[in-house]
Amino acid sequence: MIYLAHMACLGIIVMWTCLNVSEGQGRVNKQTKTRGNNASAWKNKESYLKFIVPSTIDAVHILSELGDPIFSSKEGVSIQSLQDNTATLSILFTSVDSYPENMRQMFRYSYCQIIPLAKKPESKIKHAISCNLENLRNFDTLIRLTHAVEFINKNMRNDWAFMKLLSRIEREPAKVLAEAKPNVEDDHISEHLSYLLVFLLAHESWHLQHTTTSSFADSANSEFENSSSDLLSKITCRNYDEFARRGKKFEMALDLIPLSEEGVTNDPTELKYFVTTRAIWQQEIEADKYAASVMARLILTLRERGLAEQYVQRAFSETLQHFGILALSLWHSRLRPFAERYCSKYAGEDFYLTRCMCKEKKKYSEVLSLFGATHPPIVLRMYSAANELIHKLGIDKDVNKVFPGRSPDLVTAVNWFKIIDAITDVPLKLSMPECLRMPDVVASGGNIVQIFPDLAGIVGDKGSANYPGYPADEGSFMSNCLSRSLTTKKAKQK
Ligand SMILES: [Zn+2]
Ligand SMILES: [Zn+2]
Repeated sequence: MIYLAHMACLGIIVMWTCLNVSEGQGRVNKQTKTRGNNASAWKNKESYLKFIVPSTIDAVHILSELGDPIFSSKEGVSIQSLQDNTATLSILFTSVDSYPENMRQMFRYSYCQIIPLAKKPESKIKHAISCNLENLRNFDTLIRLTHAVEFINKNMRNDWAFMKLLSRIEREPAKVLAEAKPNVEDDHISEHLSYLLVFLLAHESWHLQHTTTSSFADSANSEFENSSSDLLSKITCRNYDEFARRGKKFEMALDLIPLSEEGVTNDPTELKYFVTTRAIWQQEIEADKYAASVMARLILTLRERGLAEQYVQRAFSETLQHFGILALSLWHSRLRPFAERYCSKYAGEDFYLTRCMCKEKKKYSEVLSLFGATHPPIVLRMYSAANELIHKLGIDKDVNKVFPGRSPDLVTAVNWFKIIDAITDVPLKLSMPECLRMPDVVASGGNIVQIFPDLAGIVGDKGSANYPGYPADEGSFMSNCLSRSLTTKKAKQK
């Protein structure tokens, strides 16, 4: 990790003690000593825990050096222990299975979240942040795979291939890595993880600074499964509106209503729900903004401290890559069950979603289940975080001034931004028919023709040069959809 060479340690106490965490807050088994070889760190959860701790220590140092108020506290930070007598903040890495059952569903789609602590006289710990070990390990695996160019290009050749890769990473990460043989050192992966953790922990720090507790999550909708379809529809519509508020909209979008003025319903139960979750939405957006600005500060500080330009640009590129991977992995994991259930006819095809949705409009009514209810959609959040980072660095004004003499990493950075930008159109377009109140058109299979961006339009050679992510032959997709829905109508009329 290059960064530490430039950073002095500011009295941060990082304790690597592995205790059984009590009070049902999560359970991590006692560790055996590491053998010093991390090459197979990803093979099981226990050794992965060991692998990620040094990166966490780096991230804590960085946050402290950058003046983050939570991480600059003199008392220090404890890792994987709630019974430290000096630290006031604890970071815990937890498996989903060992998480309290009532919070498990939310944790599954989360990277880190603040956990409420019961006051205990023997511990000084005031705050605890719990990070999802499986999600971090999956993230790590994906990062490694991006260093096996041929393999990752093949497995990101389209959305369908990528969803398959994600499910393989969950089931058999070691096998996938053995196949890909990424040419990358553990030290480099640790640098990735440190920067990722700076972002994730800065996000949680914002919550702690403002005493809010919502989690870094793309929340599941399951709690609303029995809600009226009307409420689900309003939730989807709130998601849709949020795209416009964050600068993503199509010409036909409705007038922009600020979130604070959103008056969605007269039903008292629904209204209460919307008022409560509105606060969460606003907090998440602010926390992301803060975390992105911390990343900008980190990149500028690297340069101020004399790090070679190529490493400064690498930090920028890695940050955008991390936003991209966070967005893609959470969104495609959410999309996968939908795709397998409703679009399996188009399995493996480029632009499968366009082909699938244009043939059977009724699937739009099933799309509601894809949208998180309590949090803004993760794809959109990473899109906003990327924009905030670019803005804070001043790249939106003059890239040459910020990055004179461009390294190949900048090309990678631009490509990741294109992926984030393109993928953000997908949930926007999926939620549009419901939000623009087109259920009749949906039900009759009428003429909603939408082209959905796909990784095939970015990674493969079938993409449009003007609109990365979209097919080069967009017109033929359009006419195909149109002719089909007209035929269906004629058949019905007979
Ligand atoms: Zn890398
Ligand atoms: Zn949050």
